[in-house]
Amino acid sequence: MPDTPANSATSSRETAFDAVIVGAGFAGLYMLHRLRRLGLSSKVYEAGSSVGGTWYWNRYPGARCDVESLEYSYSFSDELEKEWQWTERYASQPEILRYLNHVADRLDLKRDIQFETRVTATVFDELAKRWIVQTDRGDRVAAQFCVMATGCLSIPKTPEYPGVDSFQGKTYYTARWPHERVDFSGERVGVVGTGSSGIQCIPHIARQARAPLCIPTNSQLQHTCSQSPALARGRRRLANSSPRVSSAGSHLAYQLPLRHEHPVSAGSVATGATA
Ligand SMILES: Cc1cc2nc3c(=O)[nH]c(=O)nc-3n(C[C@H](O)[C@H](O)[C@H](O)COP(=O)(O)OP(=O)(O)OC[C@H]3O[C@@H](n4cnc5c(N)ncnc54)[C@H](O)[C@@H]3O)c2cc1C
Repeated sequence: MPDTPANSATSSRETAFDAVIVGAGFAGLYMLHRLRRLGLSSKVYEAGSSVGGTWYWNRYPGARCDVESLEYSYSFSDELEKEWQWTERYASQPEILRYLNHVADRLDLKRDIQFETRVTATVFDELAKRWIVQTDRGDRVAAQFCVMATGCLSIPKTPEYPGVDSFQGKTYYTARWPHERVDFSGERVGVVGTGSSGIQCIPHIARQARAPLCIPTNSQLQHTCSQSPALARGRRRLANSSPRVSSAGSHLAYQLPLRHEHPVSAGSVATGATA
């Protein structure tokens, strides 16, 4: 397809593509591959500095998928399936990220992805019948199709508790975890949120931190823990380290005081995504 459509009202300063894809996670990568095979010129914009989406951002200790690795993989290519061997039944975040990089490299996808670029506006130009896509890097491109592969869990939920702004300690978000290792040794850490991310990171943080911590003991945690001796060890250690932590039933065993007058003093972790 021509880069600049005929009879278009698109400005000559704009670059034109058949499709713009926003996001380079599982969905965006596959979309780019499919559109290429259809012969469409495509451009991907990704806010992160590499591919991976969820698995690029969620680098917290203990992050792993909770469906079996084999099912959490692309199934469109026999070759890809044969050449990639998962090392664990439920793959960890680093392995899933390696897998997605492998797929992107293998299919030569990165050449059409512009990283560290956030799409800030998409406006449909009625006259040109094209989307006009703008980014925070000053790009302005036109495209017939605009695919939002932005994920359903890519925006972290910022806590809205009273006093959260004046918290003196460090705050980490599982969905925006630093690339470098975080050392919680000897710190008092509060983990806010006991969904999948919370129950995955708590045993790891508990290996280093001083109590108190939130610890849920539901079946999902048991299932995930069975993957890793480190997780199981961390959980046992936590259970032994604080008399206030018990592991009875399927309840949250210990609830942190979250009000401002009882802040945790050294560090806190907020888990979860979506605003
Ligand atoms: C911690 C965690 C664990 C999960 N585990 C599982 C699991 O075990 N099994 C399962 O099926 N699902 C799981 N999920 C759901 C997971 O999100 C999906 O499986 C899948 O990875 C989503 O892929 P995606 O490409 O749709 O979106 P994402 O992976 O979220 O990718 C979206 C990308 O779009 C980018 N983006 C967003 N807005 C913009 C913008 N304006 N401009 C530029 N780039 C933008 C983001 O930076 C992001 O990289 C999990 C999610 C999380 C958060």
